[in-house]
Amino acid sequence: MGAICPKGKHSGARRDKRRAQSFRIPGATLSKCPKCGALVKPHRACRSCGTYKSSEVLNVG
Ligand SMILES: [Zn+2]
Repeated sequence: MGAICPKGKHSGARRDKRRAQSFRIPGATLSKCPKCGALVKPHRACRSCGTYKSSEVLNVG
């Protein structure tokens, strides 16, 4: 009932698979800005044209 009682030792492959879940490929979380086509991080305003959700939210000159 929720008590911490390990039934047995997990294999190295199972342990490694669990730890591999936090592994992220650099650059894999980038998407393209719909306005200027630059690579932008999701949920962030575009750094080159300042657009987020099809409206300008940053002053980039
Ligand atoms: Zn842009």
